[in-house]
Amino acid sequence: MTDFYAVIGNPIAHSKSPWIHAEFSRQTGQDMQYEAILAPVDAFAATVAVFRERGGKGMNVTVPFKLEACKISRRLTRRADVAQAVNTLVFSADGILGDNTDGAGLVRDIMINLEFPLAGKRILLMGAGGAARGVVLPLLEHSPSVLTIANRTKQKAHLLQQQFSRYGNIVSGDYADLGGEKFDLVINATSASLKGRVPPLPAGIFADESMAYDMMYGDGRTPFLQFAKQQGASRLTDGIGMLVEQAAESFFLWRGIRPETDRVIRGLRNL
Ligand code: NDP
Repeated sequence: MTDFYAVIGNPIAHSKSPWIHAEFSRQTGQDMQYEAILAPVDAFAATVAVFRERGGKGMNVTVPFKLEACKISRRLTRRADVAQAVNTLVFSADGILGDNTDGAGLVRDIMINLEFPLAGKRILLMGAGGAARGVVLPLLEHSPSVLTIANRTKQKAHLLQQQFSRYGNIVSGDYADLGGEKFDLVINATSASLKGRVPPLPAGIFADESMAYDMMYGDGRTPFLQFAKQQGASRLTDGIGMLVEQAAESFFLWRGIRPETDRVIRGLRNL
């Protein structure tokens, strides 16, 4: 019998998740279908309920519903509970389980696909919204020497620092506070790239052999990556690998099988 899954968001037409999960199910021989569902901004819970009644087994959740998804979950995995944001729902007779696979997807892309170890590294995370919140704990679990969180609204960066400080060495501030510092890995978790902007980073923040990682994906030439190239970052990467890896984590949660991601990442880059 075919099992039904979906990604829910607003907007959703741009989502690559249906293509990714179709590749995963073909590759692993799973009998499943995966669609994209546009939910009205004021009707997230009702739209999820309708999908469940239709026999849906699980959903991915994207902007702007990750916090609401947390609230409708009866149980949360530890990583979703710590992040207080959910991007994966699993439906069962027990109710809804909420998980967050964004951070695991990011860390797997950086450490395994890109072969960039995090232990002892100086990491700068730009942004303090839903995406940043989901990746702080998984980054800290790999023992960077420091994780600096910088955000336009400084107070939100401070709040994240307070929330996560017991898990590792975190510093927070705004972009003006970064003058004179150098980082081995700079991750852009802001939505500035969507508007063709780059957060106001001071010059000279990229250390030798550093990596610039933009969670936004596209043609691999986001405004942040162009800035990083001019500033001498050694390695530049967009968020396609993270997107595929977080999807693979969700797929594993639903189906108990881990799909191969290499070919899917390459396929997505060539679409
Ligand atoms: P949110 O709306 O929750 O947060 C947006 C963040 O961007 C805030 O920290 C905001 O700062 C900051 N920001 C927005 N505009 C600017 C600007 N012009 N200059 C500086 N900072 C700015 O968004 P999300 O966290 O959900 O998503 C962030 C990005 O991550 C998006 O591009 C999204 O597509 C991407 N993403 C990619 C994933 C992947 O798998 N590759 C997974 C999840 C997200 P302030 O607090 O001051 O408003």
